[in-house]
Amino acid sequence: MGEPNFIKTVCGYCGTGCGLILEVENNRIMKIRGDKEAPVNKGQTCVKGAFAYEYVHSEKRLHTPLIRKAGQLVETSWEEAYQFVADKLGIIKKTWGANAISMFACARTTNESNYVTQKFMRGAIGSNNIDGCNRT
Ligand code: SF4
Repeated sequence: MGEPNFIKTVCGYCGTGCGLILEVENNRIMKIRGDKEAPVNKGQTCVKGAFAYEYVHSEKRLHTPLIRKAGQLVETSWEEAYQFVADKLGIIKKTWGANAISMFACARTTNESNYVTQKFMRGAIGSNNIDGCNRT
């Protein structure tokens, strides 16, 4: 058993942006508490911020991309999945324009990942049609 690491982060579940401290041991989140130094929440959290992290280590998470073929979802390589998505987005953009594409971001990922998501939509796709369940 290693010593726990205490990692400061910002909760992404909603737009409040509470500061959190993650207690991480052997690369697993063991506990989350509010960051007393965070001006938004001053150490407090709601139930989601403090306890809704079990999905991070869930055995039910996907480990490989899936593509639907002949009505069935089948495992594929990342290369094939990226190419499939790029081809489809290219066809949609060429046929109907960038505003025909939208993306729904995720509250269960990091702030950094959500930042990259909106940069991709605005910079690469050319659409402002982006939203997420953490927008409150
Ligand atoms: S979900 Fe709860 S802990 Fe997370 S930012 Fe919103 S109020 Fe704060």
